[in-house]
Amino acid sequence: MKVINPATETVITEIAEDTSQSILEKFDLLTKGQQAWSKINITDRIAAIQKFYDLLDENKDELAATLTSEMGKPLQQSYNELNGARGRIKYFIDNAVKYLAEEWVTTEGATKEKIVFEPLGVIANISAWNYPFLVGVNVFIPALISGNAVFYKPSEYATLTGLHIQSLLYKAGVPENCFQMAIGKGSVGEQLLLLPLNGYFFTGSYRTGKYIAEKVAGKMVPCQLELGGKDPLYVADDVDNIKKAAADALEGVVYNSGQSCCAVERIYVQENIYDDFVNAYAEECKKLKIGDPLDKGTDIGPLSRKEQQAFLETQVDDAVILGAQIVCGGKIPDRKGYYFEPTVLVNVNHNMKVMMEESFGPVVGIQKVKDDAEAIALMQDTSYGLTAAVFSKSFDRAENIMQQMNTGSVYWNCCDRVSASLPWSGRKHSGLGATLSYQGIRAFVQPKAYHIRG
Ligand code: NAD
Repeated sequence: MKVINPATETVITEIAEDTSQSILEKFDLLTKGQQAWSKINITDRIAAIQKFYDLLDENKDELAATLTSEMGKPLQQSYNELNGARGRIKYFIDNAVKYLAEEWVTTEGATKEKIVFEPLGVIANISAWNYPFLVGVNVFIPALISGNAVFYKPSEYATLTGLHIQSLLYKAGVPENCFQMAIGKGSVGEQLLLLPLNGYFFTGSYRTGKYIAEKVAGKMVPCQLELGGKDPLYVADDVDNIKKAAADALEGVVYNSGQSCCAVERIYVQENIYDDFVNAYAEECKKLKIGDPLDKGTDIGPLSRKEQQAFLETQVDDAVILGAQIVCGGKIPDRKGYYFEPTVLVNVNHNMKVMMEESFGPVVGIQKVKDDAEAIALMQDTSYGLTAAVFSKSFDRAENIMQQMNTGSVYWNCCDRVSASLPWSGRKHSGLGATLSYQGIRAFVQPKAYHIRG
């Protein structure tokens, strides 16, 4: 398997993919290792994770450079991701003991009752490339702390980062027979679906997630899915500062070249501030510097996958054919690398792919709406349900809208944000189950009910 630098289109290295035989051997190892790992004291498991947390910081320069070279995000954003991942790990370190402790629910009377949280066993962590540290730690950290062994399948577009993660976990004291990596493309991930694993934790596209959920359904084990989105932002006419609203919206659209599950993918603006908002957004957008992701001044790096350029081009062409206008961007720039210009489309509507399909690029349509009711109807007109954001001066006004969103997260005057202390979950085609928060700790254990008489 070739690992390609998306900024230069050069081959960084070639790595051998796992075979069905090596996957079976790794599975055997994990099955044996999990038993012993689950029996050691939780504080010892946490000590290993604490060491991993420290190692991420000690090795941050190498980790950030690798991440940028294999998936193209601007170097500062790679450092930000590492920091963010450490913040999440810290949350798990600080909270796992509390949420995994046994719970006495009845201590009086003839029959005492308690709940004990037991690990699931050996779980699969099939992961995405856009934030390999962040989406990885959501799963393998609480899974390991709670006594599971992890079969980790990083994306084929983040394999080198996956290998770094594996070696730092081993260095931190996580035994090799508790964490194994499946190296390769989707076909290698497919091998994990054939194993009798005790849980499947997937981050990726709706298409693959649906396939995996159907494939493992008969196993009757937990299957959690963190999938894509088509996240809306509504800018109401009472915002204090239109320029700031536009700058914040732009950040939500283009961060990581728009390759975030919770990126802002469509914007609705109330009609009386529409023109001012579009002008302010376009003005900021034109200032963005496309370039080498290793350069400090670069805002927009390449997309991670070559085929995504043609995908975005098709979305833009479809919108233009149906009457949209390009305010800025819209093209594949004439340079090496998988770049796409940050793009703003107006005169858009819901017949256009760009307003309905996940773009996963620095592209957005801005649609004019009459009032909150029209904004709500359009925001809800989607098969996804990850996040929705409202910019308004009034919390009451925003809250009324947020209550009507069928999404896992809602934002008032912010967007494109994940917190370790809040559950991260999608509804509808955005997924099933939650990571992060105490729910994301409990996701990796199963309750056992003790009825104790005597
Ligand atoms: P993808 O679905 O193409 O791949 C995800 C993983 O699944 C990869 O490791 C891939 O090798 C593996 N895979 C592919 N086919 C498989 C199969 N048949 N069996 C088993 N494994 C298989 O997704 P991607 O391109 O890596 O990630 C982008 C998508 O992920 C976007 O839709 C994005 O919104 C979503 N995402 C969601 C979240 C979230 O938290 N909700 C976070 C990050 C990314």
